[in-house]
Amino acid sequence: MNDDRYFDCAASAPPFPEALKRFEEVSLGLYGNPSSTHEAGQRAHKEREAAGEGFLARLGLPDGSLILASGATEANNLVIRSAMDANPEGRLLLAADVHDSAWFAKEFYPGRVDLLETGPDGRINPDRLEARLTKKTVLCSVLHANNETGVIHDVRSIGAACARRSVALHCDGVQAVGHLPLALSGIPFAAYTFSAHKFGGPRGVGGAIVRDVHPGPLLRGGGQEDGARSGTENVAGLSAALVALEMSLRALDAEAPRLRRLARLLMDSVPDALVNSDPEKGVPGLVSLSFPNLVGENLVAEMNLRGFAVSAGSACGSGRMEPSRPVLAMGRTREQALGTVRISMGRSTTEDSVRALATTLKEVAERQRALA
Ligand code: PMP
Repeated sequence: MNDDRYFDCAASAPPFPEALKRFEEVSLGLYGNPSSTHEAGQRAHKEREAAGEGFLARLGLPDGSLILASGATEANNLVIRSAMDANPEGRLLLAADVHDSAWFAKEFYPGRVDLLETGPDGRINPDRLEARLTKKTVLCSVLHANNETGVIHDVRSIGAACARRSVALHCDGVQAVGHLPLALSGIPFAAYTFSAHKFGGPRGVGGAIVRDVHPGPLLRGGGQEDGARSGTENVAGLSAALVALEMSLRALDAEAPRLRRLARLLMDSVPDALVNSDPEKGVPGLVSLSFPNLVGENLVAEMNLRGFAVSAGSACGSGRMEPSRPVLAMGRTREQALGTVRISMGRSTTEDSVRALATTLKEVAERQRALA
C-alpha cells in the first residue's frame, strides 16, 4: 500500500523520521536508568525533566506537570480510577462519545456513572453539562476532539462549568494534541491526556498533564513520576514525542487548511453518504461517513483489498459488529451507524489520493448495496 492510500491516521499516524532519530539518539546516548544516582542515570533523569518541560511549554502550560505513561489508555484509566477510588461515594459524569478507555468506567463503577448526551451535531452543551453535575460528582470526563467524527468540544466552556461546581475535569486530548493549536492554560482541566503515536511520535508513549490534582497510582513499585506511575521512564519515547509535537505544530498553519480542503473535497465527491463531520470546524482531515444499511467493516475489508486503509469507527473498536457509539449519540439510527467509515488524512495525503479514495469508496458502496 502506498503511504498516500493510508487513510487511518487517527488510529496511528505515520511517525516523523526525526522523532525516531531522536528516540535512537536518546536510547543509545542516555541509557542510564533515570532513578540511578550515578552520572549516567542523572543524565537520563535530566533529559526526562527537560523533555517534559519542553512538552508542557509547547502546549502552553509551563507550570503543569506531566505524568509519563504507556499511552492514553493507561492515562485515562489512571485519571478516572484514582478519582473514583479516592471517593467511594463519588460520581462520574461521562460524555456519551468518549473513547473506550474512559467508557470502561460505566461498567467498572456500576451505579456511579451519569451519562452526558451529545447533540445532533455531536457536541456537548456546556449548560446542559452543568445542570447534570451533582454534589456527588467528583469528575467529569470528556473528549477534546472526538476520534471517530472529529467533532471538537468547547472544552473552555465545559471546564468553566465544572469549575463553577468545583468538579474536576478530565479532558482526553488524544485527537487534539498536534492537530489543533492548543493553549492548555486557557482550558480549566484537572487532567489532560495524550498519546504520542497519534501525532507522529512513537507507540507506547503518552500520559496525563495535570494541575492541582495528583492522580495515581495504578501501577505500584519504584515510585517513579512522583509516585503516580511506577516503572522505569520511557525517556527516549518522551524525547521523541516532543520532536513529533514540535514538528506537527510547526506544520499546522499550512497543514490544517490543506487537510480541511481535502476533507471537503472527499465529502463533495461521495454525495450519497451521510456526513457525521464538519470539515471546516472539526479535526482537520477527519471525516466520518455513514452508508445506511451497509456494514462499515465490510466496506473497510473491500477498501483494503483495493489498497486503501480506512477504518470503521475507532480502530480499537474495529473487528466487532457494534455500531459506532459517537455516531449513535448524534442521533443516527442503528442501521446508519453500523455503516460508518472513518477516513483520517495526514501529511502524505494528496488531492489525487483523495479523488482515488472517493471513486473507489463510491464503487465499493454501490457494489455492496447491490448485494445487500
Ligand atoms: N482516546 C482517544 C480519543 C483515542 O482515539 C485513543 C486511541 N484510539 C485512545 C484514547 C487510546 O490511546 P492509546 O491506544 O494510544 O492508548
